[in-house]
Amino acid sequence: MREIILIKLGEIVLKGLNRNSFEAVLKKNVKSALKSLGGCDAKVMQSAMYVTIPEGGDADQYAEAISKVFGIVAYTRACECEKNIEEMQKAAVSYLADQLEDASTFKVETKRSDKKFPMTSPEISAQVGGYILEKFPHLKVDVHKPEMTVRVEVRENSAYVHGNQLHGAGGLPVGTGGRAGIMISGGIDSPVAAWMMAKRGVELTAVHFASPPYTSERAEQKVIDLLGAVSDWAGVIKLHIVPFTELQEAIRDNSPEDMFTITMRRLMIKITERIAAKDGCLAMISGESLGQVASQTLPALFCTDDAANMPILRPLIGMDKDEIIRISRKIGTFDISVQPFEDCCTVFTPRHPRTRPTIDMARDAEAMIPNEEELIEKAIADVRKVWISPNR
Ligand code: ATP
Ligand code: MG
Repeated sequence: MREIILIKLGEIVLKGLNRNSFEAVLKKNVKSALKSLGGCDAKVMQSAMYVTIPEGGDADQYAEAISKVFGIVAYTRACECEKNIEEMQKAAVSYLADQLEDASTFKVETKRSDKKFPMTSPEISAQVGGYILEKFPHLKVDVHKPEMTVRVEVRENSAYVHGNQLHGAGGLPVGTGGRAGIMISGGIDSPVAAWMMAKRGVELTAVHFASPPYTSERAEQKVIDLLGAVSDWAGVIKLHIVPFTELQEAIRDNSPEDMFTITMRRLMIKITERIAAKDGCLAMISGESLGQVASQTLPALFCTDDAANMPILRPLIGMDKDEIIRISRKIGTFDISVQPFEDCCTVFTPRHPRTRPTIDMARDAEAMIPNEEELIEKAIADVRKVWISPNR
């Protein structure tokens, strides 16, 4: 018995003329998500993709990897069988035994795209349904609200039998939404922000600011691990680790203490923007949420945006912390984020940060750094690059 995964194409079927290229990107993403598991054969037919699991492939692992591919609304594991009614009956009771055992009501739905098949769809449903009732006498047929729907599809080459659908990751295929530069810390928020933009089809370039010796190698490894988890969903990510210590010391030594965080964030944005632009990005992404801390009030965000030319996407801006945590648990980053390693943002933080800075204050504070351009260029020249691939 051969198992396949049937993928229902989501929003992408609505994309009119772009449809073919969206489908091609999704197919490429499905194939690359399954590559390390043993690869697959993927075919698109009538708003569904048929993914064949090779001999010896672990169907559970395949399904788990598929559940993290954006652009898929729903998918089902199905079993392929010969196109005759006895084989379909047998396939239904053996392949779906667990689900049928647990259900109390069911119905059978048949789709017959091979019009030459000698039975009609209602006839097939009746025959398969009757056989299921014989083998699972506790079941009752309910055509309106069944707990379990057994689906039979009769296609040109084979028939397929499958049960209830599973939820896919939704969103759009990564690679259809351009590229953006995620500013990634070791915290809870920025990995979630990265995931949310990848969900809308955006490819990621990552930038992390490290301040050795104030921050440790373990803190950098934490960021690499976080991006590994994000990469399960977002595909390969190029990470740039920027040495930030000298810039932070220059801010501390030259500009007002209460403007330290704003000035630091303006420099982070300027550096991220240059790295992102070189990598073909059209936007930056941050994990800020309105009012969460002093540097995330509207006046503070106004002052940081003043240092940027590219748009800064803030997908968490209207979310509460508990909503963000819920997503971080779901995507597998929470347990990594809560490991206790210091971030560069905790180095030299002011006792009383200004929550209502003005643009003039922000520009003046930054202008007090005498050799800013030189330090920025040096930091960028000393960037360390790390390629991140999925954790699995
Ligand atoms: P997070 O949980 O993502 O660290 P946070 O609530 O702790 O966010 P801040 O520390 O003020 O907030 O950082 C706000 C945003 O700035 C982060 O979400 C991230 O996008 C960016 N950022 C913070 N620290 C760094 C860093 N060391 N390197 C790169 N980006 C950073
Ligand atoms: Mg942080």
